[in-house]
Amino acid sequence: MSSAWRVGVDPGRCIGTSICAGTAPEHFRLVDGVSAPLADVVSPAEVVLDAANSCPVEAIIVRDVTDDRLIAPEE
Ligand code: SF4
Repeated sequence: MSSAWRVGVDPGRCIGTSICAGTAPEHFRLVDGVSAPLADVVSPAEVVLDAANSCPVEAIIVRDVTDDRLIAPEE
């Protein structure tokens, strides 16, 4: 099990649905209509995966900080 995940939002992809902020308000907020993670590195949490996998345009990318392995979205 990885110890930490890096969370990023591609601002060029995000269409501002706010689904991620609604799913995981402790991890995402909208700034000027675009989602941004509250923290770039987080402890592994199911809700982060739920948010990433719920994004309709796959703008949220979650990777393992130790080996850069893609955690979400699911391929
Ligand atoms: S769910 Fe995706 S498209 Fe919607 S606000 Fe979050 S990152 Fe943007």
